[in-house]
Amino acid sequence: MKKIVTSLVVAGVLAVSAQAFTLGKYGNFEFKKDHANVYIMHGPVMDPNKENEGFMNNPTIIEGEHGLIIVDPGGNYNVGKKILAEIEKVSKKPIIATINTHKHGDHWFANKALLEKYPDLKIYAHPNMIKVVKEGGADQWYGILESLTGNLKGTNNPFPFPNMEVLGGKTIEIDGQKFEIFHPERAHTDTDIVITHLNSDTMFMGDNVMKGRLGGFDASSNIQGNIALLKEIEKEPEHKTYIPGHGPSGKMHETLDPFIGYMTVIVEEAKRAYDNDLESYEVKEDAIKRLKAYHKWDDFEGKMGKHLMKAYEEWEALDM
Ligand SMILES: [Zn+2]
Repeated sequence: MKKIVTSLVVAGVLAVSAQAFTLGKYGNFEFKKDHANVYIMHGPVMDPNKENEGFMNNPTIIEGEHGLIIVDPGGNYNVGKKILAEIEKVSKKPIIATINTHKHGDHWFANKALLEKYPDLKIYAHPNMIKVVKEGGADQWYGILESLTGNLKGTNNPFPFPNMEVLGGKTIEIDGQKFEIFHPERAHTDTDIVITHLNSDTMFMGDNVMKGRLGGFDASSNIQGNIALLKEIEKEPEHKTYIPGHGPSGKMHETLDPFIGYMTVIVEEAKRAYDNDLESYEVKEDAIKRLKAYHKWDDFEGKMGKHLMKAYEEWEALDM
C-alpha cells in the first residue's frame, strides 16, 4: 500500500511539473500579477542559450474586459507555445492583440504561437520595425537565435510579422485599454516604441532599459540617444511600474538608473579615448574599474568592450 501511495505522489508531482514552464536549472516561469490588470513573466536575465530555449525577455499580459493584450510575447514559436499555456492559466479570455517593442527577434518571434491559435490577432509595431524585419531583419535574427538556442523551428515560413502600424505621439485603444506610444528616433535601435499603458500607469521600456544584462548596441542604435531618452523620461511624473526589456521591473529610479549609469561611463570613457588619440580598448581597464557595480551582470566583459567601441564610433561620427 505504501508503495502505491508513494508512486501516486510521484505521479502527481510529475503531472504538476509537466504542466509548469520549466527551463532546466533556471527553474519555473509563470505570470505574476504586478498591479491592476498587468501580469508579468520575468525571463532569465542572460543571453539566449540552449538551456533557456531562447526565452529571456519579459512577456506581459494586460487583461481587458473582453480579451488579453500581450506585450513582447517571447523569442520563438516553441517557447511561445509554453508561454501561451501560462497565459491561459491567468485568464481564459482570448488574446486579441500583441504589441512588439522593437525589431529584435527575442521579443516578437513568439507572435507565431499566438497567431496559430488566433489567426486574426492584431500585432502592433512601429513602421520602421515592420520595414526592417521584412527586409531581412527577421532572417538575420532567426540565424542569430537559431545558432545560440537551436530552438527556432516553426518560427518562420512565414514569420509572424506585425500587421498594425503604430506611430510615436499616438494613443491607441484596444478593448478599452489605452496605450500612449513614444518613438525615440535612435536609442536601443531605430525601431523602438516606449509604451505607456494609461489604465494601469505602466511604462514598457523595451530594450532601452535592461537590468542584470547589457545586451547589444547594433549599428542602428545610439548610446547617447538612449541616455537622452531615459533622462527625458525621468523628468516626467513617475509612473507606477517600469518594465525593462530584460531584468526585473520596478519603480523609476531603481529600474532606469543602473542602465543610465552604465551607458554614461561607457560614453565618457570613449570620449576620453577619442580626445586623447587612444583606441577604445586602451581605456577598457579604467572603464572596468569604474563599472564595479556591473561586474556581475551577465557577460559583462564580453559586452562592455563592444559597447566602448560603439560609443567611440559615435564620438567619431559627431566630429565629422
Ligand atoms: Zn533588443
